[in-house]
Amino acid sequence: LSLRADFPTSCVELGILRDEYNAMLERLESAVQRVRQFSGDASHELRTPLTILRGETEVTLHWAKTPEEFRAALQSNMEEIDRMGRILEDLLTLAKSESGELPLSIGQLSLSDLVQELYIQGRTLAEGKDITVSMHHGADSEVSIRGDDLRLRQLFLNLLSNAIRYTSEGGRVDIDVSRCDDTVTVAVIDSGIGIAPEHLPHIFERFYRTDEARNRAHGGTGLGLAIVKWITEAHDGTIRVTSTVNEGSRFEVCLPLAGPTLGEESKDKN
Ligand code: ADP
Repeated sequence: LSLRADFPTSCVELGILRDEYNAMLERLESAVQRVRQFSGDASHELRTPLTILRGETEVTLHWAKTPEEFRAALQSNMEEIDRMGRILEDLLTLAKSESGELPLSIGQLSLSDLVQELYIQGRTLAEGKDITVSMHHGADSEVSIRGDDLRLRQLFLNLLSNAIRYTSEGGRVDIDVSRCDDTVTVAVIDSGIGIAPEHLPHIFERFYRTDEARNRAHGGTGLGLAIVKWITEAHDGTIRVTSTVNEGSRFEVCLPLAGPTLGEESKDKN
């Protein structure tokens, strides 16, 4: 379906030029295309766990005999249900963020405390995977910023869980906080599988996942980085990623500091 139509006479009456009209149509067409792509991708992503769920349930009903077999099937079904739940939750977050239904709740917060708590969460996430999680707070004193506490936690937790997810046993994940003039940078660095240059421009797109990520049944939703991008931009921040395959990745979020550094303000250099 094309939205292109003849140049309406009402536009002439309203003083809208043909070029302006065509540009408007192009924007509208690309928005429709994005919605189509999004709903197509969303149904595809939800169909996969649903198919697995159905297949496994059918097999179990036919073949399972012992309580152990039923238990194992239920356990596996539970994992797929959780995965669908995560996809739906992330989809809802993104849809609401686009329609402006998810306003940020901005307040003064200690980024240093937030990152410290994140570091502890990261250590818990890495437990059992033999990954060393460390934190380096490069700022001289506590860093305070204005932002949405919950969303910033979600942003950094997404980056941190990715770093752990895509790093093998024996690897390292570091969180690095540094201040520069009126911005603060939080970097999440891992020694994981890395991202090939051809994938880098796309990883913030919804549902974009490298084959590596798909093959490894990681349980991600493919929406984490799209949410990270939205939260960063909603805070007027920027995100940068550098990566080398088989060496690791570095995700750097740079946020503007709206408030002064707490404590010794005279030391507020880097
Ligand atoms: P997912 O839920 O699949 O992790 P994301 O949106 O968070 O989805 O990330 C998109 C894709 O970017 C991932 O599927 C993976 O291919 C790649 N990626 C993200 N973070 C990392 C990382 N730290 N190391 C390697 N690849 C990563």
